[in-house]
Amino acid sequence: MDTADMKLTIGHLYPDLLNLYGDRGNIVCMVKRCLWRGIRAETIEFNMGDRVDFSKLDIVLLGGGSDREQKIVCRELRRIRREFQRYIEDNGVVIAVCGGYQLLGRYYRTKDDIIEGLGLLDIYTEQGDGRLIGNIVLDSEWSDVPVVGFENHGGRTYIGGHKPFGRVLYGAGNDGKSGYEGVVYKNVTGTYLHGPLLPKNAQICDHLIKKALERKYGPVQLKKLDDGMEMAANAYICSRFAGRKRATLV
Ligand code: GLN
Repeated sequence: MDTADMKLTIGHLYPDLLNLYGDRGNIVCMVKRCLWRGIRAETIEFNMGDRVDFSKLDIVLLGGGSDREQKIVCRELRRIRREFQRYIEDNGVVIAVCGGYQLLGRYYRTKDDIIEGLGLLDIYTEQGDGRLIGNIVLDSEWSDVPVVGFENHGGRTYIGGHKPFGRVLYGAGNDGKSGYEGVVYKNVTGTYLHGPLLPKNAQICDHLIKKALERKYGPVQLKKLDDGMEMAANAYICSRFAGRKRATLV
């Protein structure tokens, strides 16, 4: 099948509450990389109270949010839990960032509260002393070059027997100790890498697009794009940070 006949629908869950650091830029990046290949792509935003029809969605983005916003969203998410779970078990693609990542788990315990998660993955988060803030570089099997980004979280996430998104080369990652970052379950990726995760890591973006297309249409070969600038930026960040390991506590 020609990619020109293909189309992806991206669902953005609660952009009004979960959009720290402009996590929505990841959607712009996915849409652009589809359009450059002649693949049609549309985005649907769902706000509080909207009905989410997961059967129409190929990719779902849950962004990051403050503890307060997470608490509001978690109540709403619990209402759509069953449909969300069905979508995940049916290999739907999900990218969940920071607060969104934490909400996929069983709970997020802060110093004076416990925010119940969706329990879609057997992971949990606990607030630690100080925040883990700074640049981060990972080795991930979904990218030939290190994955680069920025993290800022008070929660420490414990992923148990789940597979991590990557191994930390520089930065803190899930809990500042295990040496791992994020989680991958079926076609769900949870990560602490905020903001321009996909613009900075084109291969991860293409991996998600490919998974979503293949779920819908069967095997797909994505056309190569000119990623010269992205690769140059990646090489610069890696040379600046990789090889040094440090978590910034403030
Ligand atoms: N409130 C969460 C934490 O600090 C997530 C914050 C975020 O999404 N940046 O751990």
